[in-house]
Amino acid sequence: MLTKPMKQYLVLLCALLSLGALHAQNNAAAVAAAEALLEKQPSAQEAASHDIEEVIDASAEARQRAELAAEQAKIDSLSKLLTPAQAATVDSIVAMRLRLQRKQIASCISTDSLAVLDTLPSGHDAVQVILYANNTWRYVRNREIEKDSTIFDRYWDTTKLFPYRDVEYASLPRATVIQLVDSTNGYHTPYKPAPVRSRYGPRRGRAHQGVDLALKAGEPIYATFSGRVRISEYNRGGYGNLVIIRHDNGLETYYGHLSERMVQANQWVEAGQVIGLGGSTGRSTGPHLHFETRYYGQSFDPERLIDFKSGILNREYFLLKRSYFSIYSRAGQDFEEEIANEEQDKKEQAEREAMRYHKIRSGDTLGAIARKYGTTVNNICRLNGIKPTTILRIGRTLRVR
Ligand SMILES: [Zn+2]
Repeated sequence: MLTKPMKQYLVLLCALLSLGALHAQNNAAAVAAAEALLEKQPSAQEAASHDIEEVIDASAEARQRAELAAEQAKIDSLSKLLTPAQAATVDSIVAMRLRLQRKQIASCISTDSLAVLDTLPSGHDAVQVILYANNTWRYVRNREIEKDSTIFDRYWDTTKLFPYRDVEYASLPRATVIQLVDSTNGYHTPYKPAPVRSRYGPRRGRAHQGVDLALKAGEPIYATFSGRVRISEYNRGGYGNLVIIRHDNGLETYYGHLSERMVQANQWVEAGQVIGLGGSTGRSTGPHLHFETRYYGQSFDPERLIDFKSGILNREYFLLKRSYFSIYSRAGQDFEEEIANEEQDKKEQAEREAMRYHKIRSGDTLGAIARKYGTTVNNICRLNGIKPTTILRIGRTLRVR
């Protein structure tokens, strides 16, 4: 384990590394600009002004170089304090930060209507290449060979909706990094791009553990990621026709109220494969898809992953925090909270600035003070915790607003 000061070093080092990269870019730009100037054959007058610019450039460059060298020296001296394992940790922290950045991943092409021309081996036994009639191809996992995962063995139950009952909430990691897509695992929006009609969160006294997308009955519903169908059944608890797919990363996606199910339990599916048709079965007031994302049975807001309106997947790697499993934890909430806090701060600041005080002089009465500051006796009493009958002591300061 890393000690606290060591962690602080790591954070500092990460910041320095990113600064260094920035300065390296600036330096490269400065060098390019200087070279471009030298290549030109300027007139005497231009040459004079260019000379000045070059001097400025050169001094700026020298300064940057000195800053960069100083930073490098800092990095070097910090690096010496780290063991190779810790240095590797620093590298992986930097890499992970890059990975967790937001991205825009569009839906893959649905290959349902395409004829498969051939299935070819790839350089890896567990990966095959499928050729389609329209000359496109994609990598798929060879499920016969791939046995390196227990995802599809442990807690695998094709009859129980929630097989993770034994998994205690407290035993789940505080945060876990989940890879959503890679070269063999694509993404497809569960329905065509559509606005969210009803969001994740408490709704009319119940916990709404997914999002609702209004649709036209009979339109195709797609597997969001590749994986294996765990449940395909008519559910009497409200889901109606329900498909649950477990994915290679351990996530499960739920597709409810379908008019038709087109996959069977235990069947392997690829992202973008049509798994059923939209409908209004179960507890539903009109055709819509009820879509859930769960991890070890715990639901979290699907809008953390997908922008349903555009159909875009937000990221390649997702930092799933345990706090997201709360029904009150919604995507964008962190941001909303930030705005709310900011507004509260502004309000308090404005109140502080609006405060007015009055120093009591001989002959002052509460009524006269109230009139002077455009307020009431009651207000002054409330602000100062006094009664209208309190005797005013000369020299005392009263808050009047
Ligand atoms: Zn719903």
